[in-house]
Amino acid sequence: MKNNLSNIKKSKYYLNKGECIAIPTETVYGLAGNAYSSKATLKIFKLKKRIKKNPLIVHYHNLKMLNNDCVISNQFFKLYKKFCPGPLTFVLKLKKNSKISKNVTNNKKTLAIRFPSHPLTKKLLKLLNFPLAAPSANISTKISPVSKEDVKEEFGNKIKFILDGGRSKIGLESTIISLVGKPRILRLGGIERTKINKFLNKNIKFEKKNKKITTPGQSKLHYSPGIPIKLNTTKPKPNEAFILIKKRKKSYKNYYYLSKNKNLKQAAKNLYRILREIKNKNYKSIVVEKIPNIGFGEAINDRLKRASVK
Ligand code: AMP
Ligand code: MG
Repeated sequence: MKNNLSNIKKSKYYLNKGECIAIPTETVYGLAGNAYSSKATLKIFKLKKRIKKNPLIVHYHNLKMLNNDCVISNQFFKLYKKFCPGPLTFVLKLKKNSKISKNVTNNKKTLAIRFPSHPLTKKLLKLLNFPLAAPSANISTKISPVSKEDVKEEFGNKIKFILDGGRSKIGLESTIISLVGKPRILRLGGIERTKINKFLNKNIKFEKKNKKITTPGQSKLHYSPGIPIKLNTTKPKPNEAFILIKKRKKSYKNYYYLSKNKNLKQAAKNLYRILREIKNKNYKSIVVEKIPNIGFGEAINDRLKRASVK
């Protein structure tokens, strides 16, 4: 705990200076910088090699801080009370007098925001007097990091500091819901769409393509291990890695289990770790057995499809 406190203070020191650091969240690790600073947010884009028109998610400590930057509607408040802090990101209307850097939104009038639940990051946010812009801490289009070691693999010593918060509990990015205009899910993720629908007693659709904004979570090639991936396969070739969700009678060393009993939540948690592990071996390609398209299976299939774009 003492160690954590000094690491949080160290994080605060770098962030106050306009530097970028990696932070742990329950979804994946984030590459964080002061969302009010054009210098810090520009660094995020440069480090990630991210194209400028892909807006960033901003992480807040509480509603009071959010109220400085976004319009808070009843609908938002209802969802906030149920799901925050946690893996749900909201796209809200930006206030005219908000101090959010234009880099974050690519000059748009909307902002994606989230309240992370990881205890270290919560403590850090509480100590800062600005919110944190924090996209996933990976090079654009590559696999998202779920541990300190993954972040190191992505950036080497190009970033000043990694706040180590252990392995990400959810292991998949947040679900994004837009509340500007008709509610829409823009990205499937850490909270199942069905759970949100049940709570609101509505059928909120997943909008695969956003015509107005090109965003990384919606772009075609993403989450890529850099070798071809083929879905809905029953048998691998010898030099292929095989991803499964249910235990087979006979397993081989190229078999990688997301889960051994079709537990889709567990499968989601293991997805990026296993893709990274496979990427670091010398396989020529990856094949994946059919994953049911329900609950977290929706998000897993979405990620695998994007990772498999050639
Ligand atoms: P990442 O930070 O890498 O998890 O990706 C950020 C995601 O936030 C993108 O994929 C977008 O879908 C979403 N996003 C951020 N800002 C906006 C916005 N203003 N409108 C719609 N989507 C947004
Ligand atoms: Mg990302």
